[in-house]
Amino acid sequence: MPDYILGQKLAIDADLLALAAAVIPSATSHEISKLFKVPLNPDGFFQEAHVKLRPVDFAADGVFLCGIAHYPKHISETISQAYGAAGRAITVLSQDSVIASGAVCEVNESECVTCGACISVCKYGAIEFVDTPQGTKARVNPVLCKGDGLCNAKCPTGAISLKHYTDEEIFCQIDAEVPEQEIIQQMAAAVGEV
Ligand code: SF4
Ligand code: SF4
Repeated sequence: MPDYILGQKLAIDADLLALAAAVIPSATSHEISKLFKVPLNPDGFFQEAHVKLRPVDFAADGVFLCGIAHYPKHISETISQAYGAAGRAITVLSQDSVIASGAVCEVNESECVTCGACISVCKYGAIEFVDTPQGTKARVNPVLCKGDGLCNAKCPTGAISLKHYTDEEIFCQIDAEVPEQEIIQQMAAAVGEV
């Protein structure tokens, strides 16, 4: 048989020859990835939220991972991971209600121009278009929103804002910390230096 590292043909006197078939991702992985808004790695297997800290979680809440959907692995590792995924699911299912953060985004529908920028930037699939009396508008699902504010920064009209971190609140904090006169002096000094 050829050895591609040595660049030579080798003849091996073996008692047993075991051939392993290639393991490839399921043909439906892309469809499931879109359906549950969970990512795939470059090889097409599902990608956990964090390899050490959240090995059976996805960034999307309530969806857990185990087995060969993750990557090719032995049955013992698959079973251990399945126990972990089941345990994580039980932590959610055992509760009567789920408490979400209050720092979530909301859309002022009258200012939304339906550009979709917020939807494309949200990694958690927390925003979708809905039909309203004012037409199609973006709307945030507060249970899915993680409050990272990406959509807030991306919105061209300022229609979407993060509760407790609105522009007015941030500007007020800056004003309280740095008096206006001081800002003017610093800007004047900076211009003078140039
Ligand atoms: S980015 Fe702003 S304007 Fe565009 S769809 Fe989202 S909320 Fe509406
Ligand atoms: S704050 Fe982050 S998680 Fe929440 S809707 Fe905006 S982009 Fe999505």
